[in-house]
Amino acid sequence: MSGRRLLPIAPWRLLGGASAALPILMYHRVLDSLDPLQDEVHTTQVLERQFATLSRWFKVLPLDEAVEMLREGRLPARAVCLTFDDGYRDNHDLALPLLQRHGLSATFYVTSGLLNGGVMFHDLIAETVRHAPSGRLDIGVAGVPVVEVSDLASRIRAVAALTPKVKYLDVPQRMACTERMMQALGSRAPRHLMMDDAHVSAMSRAGMGIGGHTVNHQILAKLSDEEAAHEIEQNRQDLASLIDKPLTSFAYPNGKPVVDYNERTIRHVKASGYTHAVSTTWGISTGESQPHELPRFVLNESTPFAIVKRLLRMSVYPA
Ligand SMILES: [Zn+2]
Repeated sequence: MSGRRLLPIAPWRLLGGASAALPILMYHRVLDSLDPLQDEVHTTQVLERQFATLSRWFKVLPLDEAVEMLREGRLPARAVCLTFDDGYRDNHDLALPLLQRHGLSATFYVTSGLLNGGVMFHDLIAETVRHAPSGRLDIGVAGVPVVEVSDLASRIRAVAALTPKVKYLDVPQRMACTERMMQALGSRAPRHLMMDDAHVSAMSRAGMGIGGHTVNHQILAKLSDEEAAHEIEQNRQDLASLIDKPLTSFAYPNGKPVVDYNERTIRHVKASGYTHAVSTTWGISTGESQPHELPRFVLNESTPFAIVKRLLRMSVYPA
């Protein structure tokens, strides 16, 4: 099988109603221009064009409302939801004003342990590789490959080689890795990539949804039951203290079923009171989707025709 579902979702399901389909879009960082050492970036220019098309031709709904409508068979035609993962400061500084200009709302999944000066490990890798002198780059932690860096192409290859290895290290090794990279970067260590508490409160006051994304962005499937439960529940409490409404939505770090989260993880998420959760499984949600494993996808297109075509295509071949 090619990975496509045997039973495609018909395009007319985008028209809403009892058997509707709901595209949930997934974003991470937002920058004014692309950075060759980072993927998962949308530029403000692309975001502006996407939001203009979505606000004109689609109905962008808050995720918790849309999930309820989907379950009750009353999702309106051409509904779409927007989600941003991790809690980047650029989400507040650049995405929020664009959303407000177009009258749209989105859900922001926040890693609470990284608020106020923390850094995601893959951003640390990008900065380490960017600033490393030409030659061998050895982070000095078992399981992390030694890479050669010189020109931009080699640095792009180095980031691609290091990131997946560091991502799946055991927690102590990953922390050792983080420490080594922070030391190597010294004053160049990125300290302002993630939001502060005040940004989260401001986003919530601006009508945006805030969702759980664990304390430390660990791969939940790799943790013990107690550790996973703590990552989920402590994060919920941390975020609840910053906003004045209950948290209903959770996003699994990294988000792939089995490798990144499993049935036990889902039980913990439910036990923390989350009514739904999103994964990074590529697809469109339907009334038959498990509410704690809603699929998402990344929209890179920026012209109205390409966006509409893509959403239609996703509704036929969701995987
Ligand atoms: Zn994440």
